[in-house]
Amino acid sequence: MIERTLVLIKPDGVQRALVGRIIQRFEDAGMKMAGLKMVWADEEYAKKHYTEDISRRRGEHVRKYLLDFITEGPIIAFVLEGVNAIENVRKMVGATEPKAAQPGTIRGDFSHTSYAYCDDKKMVVKNLIHASADAEDAQREITVWFSKHELHSYKTVNDIHIL
Ligand code: ADP
Ligand code: MG
Repeated sequence: MIERTLVLIKPDGVQRALVGRIIQRFEDAGMKMAGLKMVWADEEYAKKHYTEDISRRRGEHVRKYLLDFITEGPIIAFVLEGVNAIENVRKMVGATEPKAAQPGTIRGDFSHTSYAYCDDKKMVVKNLIHASADAEDAQREITVWFSKHELHSYKTVNDIHIL
């Protein structure tokens, strides 16, 4: 039941100086940081993360906007560990469309735009954060951003009180 999941704070989150506040939420929930880094990805690298699957699900234009956006500046990549971490982190992240994301979620609290607005402006929905969707994605995405020696197992006080 203890899982690892991959999180990215996208360039809008870094440039809006929300890194500390976003990470704080996961620490508050008792999630464990297993690895963390700042990366300025180029398009080739970003394509390993945002694969053809995005084009199939969301359209080729969305993948193009997304690749332009994710490579426009540095991002923060980290791996969180916890009970049902994949599902729990997605819950804390909120819905993909900021307009639909509930208050209390990261996207709901720090963004508000809509698909219609972004389509009109020919831009990606800037929703601050990425989190792996399921176990298969988590496993693949963690290996895109982290080598084995960059991920750590260690004890925290949460191991006593939360787990
Ligand atoms: P999520 O990030 O919630 O897992 P997806 O994997 O479906 O969502 O899409 C990846 C990212 O692509 C989203 O987080 C968002 O930034 C962007 N995106 C998805 N759909 C659209 C859309 N219709 N218009 C603009 N941007 C989109
Ligand atoms: Mg996704």
